[in-house]
Amino acid sequence: MTQASSAGHGPIALYVHVPFCAARCPYCDFATAPATSALRSRYVDALATEIRREGVALGRPSARTLYVGGGTPSLLDPEEIATLAEALRSSFDLDLVEATVEANPATLDRARLVAWRAAGITRVSLGAQALSIEGLRALGRTHQPGDTAAAVDAVRSLGMDVSLDLIFGWPTQTRDDWVRDLTEAIRLAPDHLSCYPLELVLEPEEAVANWPGAGWGSVLRWRQEAAAAQADDEGIARLYRTAERALHHAGFQHYEIANWARPGKRCAHNLVYWRNGEWLGLGTGAHSHLSGARSRRPGSLVAYLDAIAKNAPRIADPAADEASDTAILALRLDEGLDLAGYGRRFGDAAVKRVRAGLAEAEDLALVRVAGDVARLTPRGRLLASEVFVRLLGDDDVATSRQPSVTLAAS
Ligand code: SF4
Repeated sequence: MTQASSAGHGPIALYVHVPFCAARCPYCDFATAPATSALRSRYVDALATEIRREGVALGRPSARTLYVGGGTPSLLDPEEIATLAEALRSSFDLDLVEATVEANPATLDRARLVAWRAAGITRVSLGAQALSIEGLRALGRTHQPGDTAAAVDAVRSLGMDVSLDLIFGWPTQTRDDWVRDLTEAIRLAPDHLSCYPLELVLEPEEAVANWPGAGWGSVLRWRQEAAAAQADDEGIARLYRTAERALHHAGFQHYEIANWARPGKRCAHNLVYWRNGEWLGLGTGAHSHLSGARSRRPGSLVAYLDAIAKNAPRIADPAADEASDTAILALRLDEGLDLAGYGRRFGDAAVKRVRAGLAEAEDLALVRVAGDVARLTPRGRLLASEVFVRLLGDDDVATSRQPSVTLAAS
């Protein structure tokens, strides 16, 4: 599959967005659309077009990681998977150390899994979210508790790695409920685990338009009722600490605020994001970070199809602050922020600003600076947004409840 790349970018990470889902989960804010959408085949064609175009425009760069996210990419038919795989192979020098697909435990049949494996996928990220019927119902999920164990077995039988996504803080969830989910997750022996607090955004996102008839009003009502039945901030913090302890005892390394891995099983693709490296996002709602500039595609399917038909450029994000982003992302990781390297990249003034913010956070026991490396403390992981606000030097930044993490898809 590997061929020499021509001039242009060095190795990049590739993200491919597949928005289709069997149903819309009421807490989800990803760019999603119904699996039965009349636009589905046009979308797959447009995505293949975008992949080919970007490969040419960037000089057929080498890609070290691939992440197919959504939405629910596991819903794609084998022919659709083959179309996208062929477009990727012919457009990029795929020298992959890791290739992940996100999957919903209920939509992962063997034919599709075999097709993903044939396309070079090495890792499946399963959107379990909860492992009890109570949790699945509370989150409005459509799969059953046993589906996740069956999916883990199926993925393993084809020699691929498994990551599980779990959500904590769902309406009425107790600490005992959470311990049961963690115990079952550990029993399933995944290579990697992501645990996210349920965050309920009360503003409609762009992709609402992709769900005709679903209505933002009903989603908003669900979220308001769910928020009223959720644990308070201290309760959410307790659940987070419970996960830290349980997963530590089970041998997982807590390498990012919301992510745990077996030794050697950290997500290489997401590490590119957290190290503020270079990645190309393809598909509706996908974000890119290339040559220090951030950009994105529209989250509305119609707007995306129109953009690709017109060969329109990605939408630039001029407000992005490369220096602040790099500091914030680095602090999410256990390896922390290397201030010497940061100074070489962004200059003395940027280091001075970041050091001032870190000093304030250190006084609050949120950060520890040892030599030239700054890391979040355990308390800082809980209150990461308090640290990040200080690094931005902007008190308008929204301070969300504890770990600033984004829910995983599928
Ligand atoms: S949580 Fe996953 S399955 Fe549910 S709507 Fe969002 S992307 Fe689709």
